Amino acid sequence: MGHGVERDGVTMLSFQDVSFRYDGDTSYVLDALSFHVAPGEFVSVIGPSGCGKSTIFRLVNQLLPRESGTICVGGLPIDGRRGYCGYMPQRDLLFPWRTVADNLRLPMEIQGGYSRAEMQARVEETLRHVGLAGWGDKRPDALSGGMRQRAAFARTLLTGSELLLLDEPFSALDFLTRITMQEWLLGQWERDHKTVLFITHDVEEAIFLSSRVLVVERTPIRQLRSFDVPAPYPRTRACLTRPDMLALRESLIALLRQEVTG
Ligand code: ADP
Repeated sequence: MGHGVERDGVTMLSFQDVSFRYDGDTSYVLDALSFHVAPGEFVSVIGPSGCGKSTIFRLVNQLLPRESGTICVGGLPIDGRRGYCGYMPQRDLLFPWRTVADNLRLPMEIQGGYSRAEMQARVEETLRHVGLAGWGDKRPDALSGGMRQRAAFARTLLTGSELLLLDEPFSALDFLTRITMQEWLLGQWERDHKTVLFITHDVEEAIFLSSRVLVVERTPIRQLRSFDVPAPYPRTRACLTRPDMLALRESLIALLRQEVTG
């Protein structure tokens, strides 16, 4: 199956005429926004700070209530549902007093229905999966920044959701750790076939990872402008020097600068 190809005509995530403003605000952050993400896509959302990217995520995971419109995941409205998406914020938010394994058990404890042995087995399997076998009984502060983000990603995977929302997960890491984590995440995605929605303000990160980039052009957000990323998968960083990738990078930077300078 090729990435970015819609399966069975079902979308993984769809916004239909979604509007939202924060309590007490007169201006909207989202104004009748519609967009779709297909199963298995890796889609980045880019735009200047404060344009509403995280608000989109908070609407998907129902941390915020929308004013109108419909949001569907897997073809069904999200209202009244739980566990349909995994969310990973910028800072890892691992509880420092719990061991890594205890942190990873959390989504299953919240969902319920797992025996202790089942939880243990799934935690160990996922730790191996993200290259952290043997680190389960350590506390988060014993891990490096990159390892903590891998542990946080493992916890996101353990929600069991097909849709992963990653909100600037690598922006607090130093440059070399960040590019290593980007390659690592691509490897995970190519193996797991999850659908990823990824927020970043780093244009190069967006085009290296994504099959498609959605650009927030202005707030209130009425539409997202979509750009297909031409390099095929599997990718290495060498793809960033392809002429078509350089051209895409430059046009996205030009578009974002236009927004910032008005
Ligand atoms: P981004 O993720 O693109 O940086 P956000 O989605 O966090 O942007 O914010 C979009 C807009 O909504 C910004 O103008 C921000 O000031 C405003 N905003 C964010 N959170 C709140 C809040 N809790 N209450 C009021 N306004 C908010």
